[in-house]
Parts: sequence; C-alpha cells; structure tokens
Amino acid sequence: STPGGPKPREEKIVVTVRLRPLNKREQLAKDQVAWDCVDDHTIVYKPQPHERVAQPSSFNKVFGPSCLTETVYEEGVKNVALSALMGINATIFAYGQTSSGKTYTMRGITEKAVVDIYNHIMNTPERDFTIKISGLEIYNENVRDLLNSESGRNLKLLDDPEKGTVVEKLVEETANNDQHLRHLISICEAQRQVGETALNDTSSRSHQIIRLSIQSTLRENSDCVRSFVASLNFVDLAGSERASQTHADGARLREGCHINLSLMTLTTVIRKLSVGKRSGHIPYRDSKLTRILQHSLGGNARTAIICTLSPALSHFEQSRNTLFFATRAK
Ligand code: ADP
Ligand code: MG
Repeated sequence: STPGGPKPREEKIVVTVRLRPLNKREQLAKDQVAWDCVDDHTIVYKPQPHERVAQPSSFNKVFGPSCLTETVYEEGVKNVALSALMGINATIFAYGQTSSGKTYTMRGITEKAVVDIYNHIMNTPERDFTIKISGLEIYNENVRDLLNSESGRNLKLLDDPEKGTVVEKLVEETANNDQHLRHLISICEAQRQVGETALNDTSSRSHQIIRLSIQSTLRENSDCVRSFVASLNFVDLAGSERASQTHADGARLREGCHINLSLMTLTTVIRKLSVGKRSGHIPYRDSKLTRILQHSLGGNARTAIICTLSPALSHFEQSRNTLFFATRAK
C-alpha cells in the first residue's frame, strides 16, 4: 500500500476503522479509553503511543468516537455502495468483536445507502430501475431466510451455471419505493432479533446479509439497450472473537469459544484478495458465507470493510486483533 493518505476512488478494497465511545457500563466500571485517533489515518494504543500496532498507511480512514455514522458512510462507504448502481457488485462489511458497534454501524449505513439509491433513481429519469431485496442469516453454517420465517430454514446452496451460487428458495421481494424497501429491511432486522432472544448469543455467532439486487435499463429504445445489474450486500458479521484462532502470545483458544468457519474463511479470502494476483487459490468454496458472496468479492467487485473497535482497556486484546485484521485486509 502507498503511504500518505487515501487512494483513488476505484480501489477495490476500502478499509476503515471506527472507534466507538466508551459506553455507560464501561464508564460505570471505570474502564479506561485505551486508544487515541491521532489523525485521519492513525490510531495509537495510549499506554504506548510510539509502539504502533498498525502503520498509519494501513487504513483508508480512521473514524474517532465523535464521528457520526453519516461521516463513516460518506467517507468510507458511499463510493463503493453506489458503484452497484453502475453494474458493479459491491459488499459492505462490519468486522469487529461483539459489542464493538457492528450492528449500530451497519444499520445506519444501510439507511444512508437507501437514501442515496433513491436520490440517484430520481436524478436518472432516462433509466428504469428495479430494486429487489433478500435477507439471510448464517448460523453454524445453516442458512436462514430473514424474509420467510415460516419455512426458510436450512436452505441449500446451489450452483447455477449463469448466476453462480444461489440460495435455494430464498425469498426475494421487489421494492415498490423507498418506504417499502425500508419496511422490508426492518423485517430482516426484526427477524434476526427474534433469533437473538431465542438463543442467547446468536448475534455474536451469526452473519447477517441484506442483499439488494439493483437492475436498470435505458428507457430510450436506442439500438443498444444498455442494462446494468449488480448486487449490493450489507454484511453484519459474527463477532470477530470467533475468528481469533490463537491469541497474540500463541496460547491455545479458550474452551467453548469455537471457531466460526465462515468468518475464518472470509478473513483468508480477504487477505488473499488484498495481496492480489500472486495469492493463488482463493478458498471461496470452503464456507457458506464466502460461497454466497463470491461474486461480490472477487473479480470486478468492490468491497468496503468497516472495522469496529471498542475503546475499552479491558477489550484491548480484541481491538488489537481487529487492527491486525484491518492491516492485512488492506
Ligand atoms: P455489535 O453489533 O458489534 O455487537 P452493537 O452495534 O450492538 O455491537 O453496539 C453495542 C452497543 O454500543 C449498542 O448499545 C450500541 O448502540 C452502542 N454503540 C455502538 N457504536 C456506537 C457509536 N459509534 N456511538 C454510540 N453508541 C454506539
Ligand atoms: Mg450486532
């Protein structure tokens, strides 16, 4: 990576870091803030500010605790998300330990993207747009349909010669307008919460994907009817504590904290994609998450990864792991 700041808009993988504020519980417990965002690209561990955990050039941007989600969207996501309007598949991830702010960030980001998509549609009268949505959750390598709570469980993945990997029987709804789309998104989010209460920590172990399929065709009947179709994926990942195979000191993983296959595979895939052509075989097929996202990750696709961090000193080790991941993703 090139040092000294943001790179051109066309880059394939945009990696940003978001440090949330200390929450009430952490304040009451007199937990300390362990991290300091010293500039737009640099985050340091306060007790040892000179021992850099990550090089400043490792990220496109670092967002501090007072940054709004709107800023995170504008500066870290928007360009990637809007490329889906031009027929380029795009995926936005939130990666971080449980309670670091993934869901908070993704919900806000999804809202902002919906506003931008419909603004674009309004400002592009020469094209006809169709927006479809599907939502799914992957828990223990089981795929569940968030728009079909009745029978959408244990869905199979199929290899379609044209479309690539498809999720069998996954419900896809066409959004009539922005209101309707927001409604469908809220159904997916509510459905995931149902799972959360049924099984204590589902959200820390499961991945949620909200996928918009954006299609458009030129209205004028010119001889070359240009049509675009692309997926825009919003992915709220399982807590990254599920990916930490070994701790920094090489100690064995604690009992009970089992490894999440989809998350492990995703980190490998992203690391290999960031290395580029020399990386050899990319193991998309090793997990459900990476199979489903394959065409939205490699090739012509664009990716934005927001790495969320808790500022608490008590979470230092997980935050450091997240920064290691962020560094290797870039
Ligand atoms: P995760 O999905 O990573 O487990 P959440 O998004 O649920 O974490 O966030 C944990 C808690 O912290 C929630 O109560 C959330 O509202 C709060 N939170 C997260 N990020 C921020 C932020 N940037 N600003 C204010 N509160 C936040
Ligand atoms: Mg969450």
